[in-house]
Amino acid sequence: MKAPHSQQTKLLELQQIDSRVDQLRHREKNLPENAALAEATAERDTINARLATEVGAVEDAQTELNRLESDAATVATRQQRDEQRLQQTSSVKDVAALEAELESLKNRTSALEDQQLEAMQSVEDATAIADATRAEGEAIQQRISEITQSRTAALDEMSGELGTLAGARTALTESIQDDLLEVYEKQRAKTGIGAALFRRGTCGGCTMTLTGQDLADVRAAEIDDVVRCPECSCVVVRTEESGLW
Ligand SMILES: [Zn+2]
Repeated sequence: MKAPHSQQTKLLELQQIDSRVDQLRHREKNLPENAALAEATAERDTINARLATEVGAVEDAQTELNRLESDAATVATRQQRDEQRLQQTSSVKDVAALEAELESLKNRTSALEDQQLEAMQSVEDATAIADATRAEGEAIQQRISEITQSRTAALDEMSGELGTLAGARTALTESIQDDLLEVYEKQRAKTGIGAALFRRGTCGGCTMTLTGQDLADVRAAEIDDVVRCPECSCVVVRTEESGLW
């Protein structure tokens, strides 16, 4: 196959664009922010799960406190009722019974008061634990937004450059003859390198140094012959840098 030398050198420009695109695509996939984001998100999920358990504990402690307060109110009502009855009754038997019950209610009230203090402490402790976890959650959420921002900025920058490269590629391919472009595209699809500079006897695509008959063939090729690397098959473009002329 033959193509004017000026056409062949365009393949080098094209390869440069394509290699840069590959590099950017690779960077997109491997942004350090991706891993950091995955890690922070996993951490946030763990914190949220812990927070749910801890909020449950606060609610349980509060329910227990409410129950004790309700019990205390019931006992207080009963005490008032018994005291009223005690004022009104003249029956010795009733007085004895009411006094016994009031004594028992007094003990019950005292026990409930102790339990309420304990329950209040439990609510306070559980709330403090949940609040600390909530603060941890807010901190990790803040970190997630920062990483996301930095990731978006990096992606935007790359997407800008990719847009420029796409435009340059279109303009360049339109100026390359079809059969040469096809050879390049097919080869690039296989190995990622469609064309490379031939320099100091070495293919720039696979870095193989040609010797013997292979080198002699490249030397003997006409300037408009499209030469392929015997090793990686990419188009080896000869320029003044190649040291052949
Ligand atoms: Zn090669």
